[in-house]
This record gives sequence, C-alpha cells and structure tokens, in this order.
Amino acid sequence: MHDAPMGADRVPENESEALLDTRISDKRINPLLARADAMTRELSGSRGYIWTAIGIDSTPCGMGCSFCSHATKWDAYQDSPPLSAEAIVARAGALADGGSDFVVLRTTQFYDLNRLLMLGRRVRDRIGDDMHLVVNTGEMDADTVRALKDAGFSMVYHVVRLREGIDTGHTVEMRLRTIETALAGGLEVQYLIEPLGPEHSPAEILTEARRARSIGASGTGVMARVSVMGTPLAHLGQVSEAYLRRVAAVARLEYPDGGVHLCVHPPTPSVLRCGSNTIIVEQAANPRDTKSSTGPWRGFDLPTARATLQAAGFAVRPARESH
Ligand code: SF4
Repeated sequence: MHDAPMGADRVPENESEALLDTRISDKRINPLLARADAMTRELSGSRGYIWTAIGIDSTPCGMGCSFCSHATKWDAYQDSPPLSAEAIVARAGALADGGSDFVVLRTTQFYDLNRLLMLGRRVRDRIGDDMHLVVNTGEMDADTVRALKDAGFSMVYHVVRLREGIDTGHTVEMRLRTIETALAGGLEVQYLIEPLGPEHSPAEILTEARRARSIGASGTGVMARVSVMGTPLAHLGQVSEAYLRRVAAVARLEYPDGGVHLCVHPPTPSVLRCGSNTIIVEQAANPRDTKSSTGPWRGFDLPTARATLQAAGFAVRPARESH
C-alpha cells in the first residue's frame, strides 16, 4: 500500500494558487506548465522574441533599492566609464542586425533626459523602424513621454516592483502614474513580476501577474532577483529554476488573452516550456552585477538566445545585412 502523495488533500482549486504552492510536486504541476506553454505558442504563433538591453550608465543612484548594485548606499558597483554615444549606437545596431526584436536602453533613475533623447534618435536612425526601441529609465510625466516618443522610442519597461515602497525608494503610486502616463502617451508597456525572491508570497505575485493584464501590457513574465553581495536582500538568496517556471506559467494563466511577449529572466532552456517565449540578452551596466560587462552578461549572447528559442520550437526574427 502506498501513502497518499504529499499535499494530495490540499491542492487549491485555483490553478495559479496551485502553481505557487511549493508543497505540491512538480510532477503534479507539469500539466499546468504544459497548458501555459500551449497558450503562449497559440497566442504568438510559436514566435520567440529576444529582448536586448544595453545598460548605458551605472551612475550611483539615490533611490536606494534594496536589491540594486547601482544604489549609492550599498557601494557595491565597481566604477565603470559610461559608454560613448558611438559605442551605444554601434551595439544597438549590431543587436538589431543580429535578429533582436527589442533594443532596450536602460539607465539609472535620474539619467539626463536630453542625452537619452539624443541616444534614442541616433539608435532609432541606426536600427530602422521595424523593431521596438524600448526605454527603461526613471519616472516620467506627459512631456517626457511625448519627447521620448518623438525621439523614436515605442515602448517602455516600467513596473510596480514587488514590495515597492518597502524594498525601494519609490511608491506604488509613483510607478503607476508613470505607467498610466506612458500608455496615455502612446508607448507600449512591458510588465514583469520582479524582482522575485523566495520571500514573496503568492498573493504578492498574483497582484502583479494580474496587474499586467489590467494595464494592458504588451508583455508579461517574471524576473528573478539576483543576489548581489552588499545589498540588503542578498542574504535571502534566489528562487529555484523550478519555481521560476511556475511563476512564468502563472503570468500566462492570469493573462490568457494578451501579453504576447512572455519573458523570463535569467534565461534557461527549461523556462521556454512553461509559457515563456521571450528571453533577455544584457550587456554593459547591470543592476544585477557588481561591474559592467564588456560582452554579453554571463556570456549569454544573441546567437545563443536565438539557438535556445529555436531549440524550444520557436521561430525567431531573421538576422539582416548590416547597414
Ligand atoms: S533599481 Fe533603479 S531606482 Fe532603484 S537604486 Fe537601482 S537604479 Fe536606482
């Protein structure tokens, strides 16, 4: 005689709650991951996407987020000279030519707007009009959104982070105001559940998974917090890959009718079998590391990202001839 499986008497009826219940085995959860995977393939026509982010500065930042290596307070980041405009444009161009779907310029909170606009114009000019140019920067009002759009940006990465206002120097209202302003100004929004750590409750995760749908984000997904030594949350460690897969599936089940770019970061092949179809290639300054990388972060480059998506059965954007 076999004992009843652990947790057999406590499987929540709600599928998202079941996915977020670590007392339930992966074996019993796998059908839900497979369903999320099928939903994303159906929504996207089995298209995979690559989000390439260039960290264009590592200016010590006064917002003091408890997970970020750029925060002045933790003194965790090795000084790195900022990338020149020419270097940023060249990197963006190479990524666009290599088959990226999104070119992302990522800054710290108070990056100079005029410089960002200049970079946006030059990068847009280099990459052409047939892909997203994304800005990931600080808060913005309507004038800023208009100027960013005029400069060539088409999308913003902006989210209410998990425990916003507790682990960050912002408020939920500040972040939502920026998101609403960006949407009203005609920028699409990509919205991930982040930075996910082991301490976050199912309720906190579900709030952000549902918010992606309620704001009408173009994309959803999840980003794990990476433990940066010296930051206050480092001692809490990181979520397992198995749990990251479950949260990706939650992001899809909670947004079944949109958010076609479902991103998981950091990427592994297994996250592409649970509802995710979008992976990130990062370079240069990085709030998840203690120094800027000269090449792709952790060696995960664009050709590897393309091969990873293709191996998982996703079509990728064709590379093109350089200008
Ligand atoms: S996450 Fe952004 S706002 Fe927070 S400290 Fe880092 S750079 Fe500043």
